Amino acid sequence: IILPPFKNEGYINVSDPEIQRKMKEAFEKIEKESKEYDIIVAGKRIKTDRKIRSINPSNPEEVVGIVSKADKEIVDTAIEKAWKVFEYWKNLPVEKRVEPFLRAAKIMRERRFELDATMIMEVGKNWLEADADLAEAIDFLEFYAREAVRYASPQPVVRIPTENNELVYIPLGVGAVIPPWNFPAAIMVGMTTAAAITGNCVILKPASDSPVIAAKFVEILHEAGLPEGVVNYVPGSGGEIGDYIVQHPKIRFISFTGSKEVGLRINEIAAKHQPGQLWIKRVVLEMGGKDAVVVDETADLDAAAEGCVASAFGFQGQKCSAGSRIIAVKEIYDELLEKVVERTKKIKIGDVRDPENWLGPVVNQYAERKILSYIEIGSTEGRIVYGGKKVKSLPGYFVEPTIIADVDRNARVAQEEIFGPVTAFIKAENFDDAMVIANGTEYGLTGALYTKRRERIETAKRVFHVGNLYFNRKCTGALVGVHPFGGFNMSGTDSKAGGRDYLLLFLQAKSISEKI
Ligand code: NAP
Repeated sequence: IILPPFKNEGYINVSDPEIQRKMKEAFEKIEKESKEYDIIVAGKRIKTDRKIRSINPSNPEEVVGIVSKADKEIVDTAIEKAWKVFEYWKNLPVEKRVEPFLRAAKIMRERRFELDATMIMEVGKNWLEADADLAEAIDFLEFYAREAVRYASPQPVVRIPTENNELVYIPLGVGAVIPPWNFPAAIMVGMTTAAAITGNCVILKPASDSPVIAAKFVEILHEAGLPEGVVNYVPGSGGEIGDYIVQHPKIRFISFTGSKEVGLRINEIAAKHQPGQLWIKRVVLEMGGKDAVVVDETADLDAAAEGCVASAFGFQGQKCSAGSRIIAVKEIYDELLEKVVERTKKIKIGDVRDPENWLGPVVNQYAERKILSYIEIGSTEGRIVYGGKKVKSLPGYFVEPTIIADVDRNARVAQEEIFGPVTAFIKAENFDDAMVIANGTEYGLTGALYTKRRERIETAKRVFHVGNLYFNRKCTGALVGVHPFGGFNMSGTDSKAGGRDYLLLFLQAKSISEKI
């Protein structure tokens, strides 16, 4: 099988009247469609009495979906059935395995407006963020299809005259995929696809804030011809069934993206050997960030201010890559702060169903409370120069974009992940000091440096300890294949999603030798 070279998917033009008409239609379609989503185990739909209510954070009265919750018994059944399907799925030739995923990419392009609209309503992404999320999901399907073919091809080994030798990659078995809600299509699709396209079977436990987009993806996979039981849709609260899935002796691997706290818990629980368990569980953990945009005295301050605002407040700061710290050297600190505040003032806040609104709601009430309590902490640790309040005039969970100035490098708001539209300005003595501050957290996910000095770029390449480093651009917006994504230290296992090493995480190598 030869596929054309991978190319990143483009984005819609949100100001095009034709696009706006199609989005309007998509919102109306979603409003009219059935809101009920079932558990799907080996293709069988299961309804339970206990439900997740997925609501629109712009307007919490509006229910986007009512999703059946799986219990432990359903988890057991799903794992058992998935192992049966694994025997068939793992033996399919790679061209048969990639086919449904490529077809799913095509269906997602066809249903683009509906899927964008689903994310806008389910988690409050603005139009462009939602479409970028969908484009990334399509990219993962296309990129991993090509990667699966590469890993299924003959692998190089050193030749010797007396033997024929080969190395083949085989899948692991049945594993759990546990994604977050903040890239409800991209990360969920990427994690699920990587695990399944390599020949494994998946128990997909979607995030409870975004189960609808995940249900739609599983529907699309089946429509695209994926055999039943390869991907099983098993929603439920992480607190209720998460530990059970992770502990399960028949779970071979766990692929998790989410917070540090939950990731570390999974790491610990998965490490414990259970009776009847035949393997050491493979655990892939991508966790939080406290990412910094560093600006020195030589930087183009307008470009830097633009980058700071996009990094800090894109999708309401709810990105693991968000620029939640802005580290400016003292010479330009005040000027940069002023420029960032000026730009932040222009941000339009409101229901993201309206494409004019750039900043939407935070995901739920719990997130809103947590963010507001961090702002309160920030008001004692620094000076709130912009924002700082809940937007009371709107019905949803809206928090103003908030800039806290003069924050100490060790302050809580400079160290802990807030995961909201809040950024801390920190003053550095000089460039070297800025690098020390940037590296001075337990995380190491993304970072950006604005400078015109070549030697500082070279220094930062060596010392700025982050998995994804950017120069003279924002620290968010990694592209599949272009910027393989994953972080150091407490940001996780540096899996580099969208990179050439990623599929190896779901494979094991078998070395085969035959005497001639
Ligand atoms: P989260 O609360 O850790 O949840 C992530 C997933 O884990 C959800 O599906 C959640 O289910 C599940 N979960 C919760 N408790 C569990 C348990 N005991 N056992 C197993 N699963 C459990 O994170 P989030 O709020 O969804 O996402 C935000 C976090 O993700 C941030 O920290 C962000 O930095 C990080 N993130 C990292 C990356 C990266 O690539 N490094 C990318 C995106 C996001 P429920 O929804 O049912 O609780």
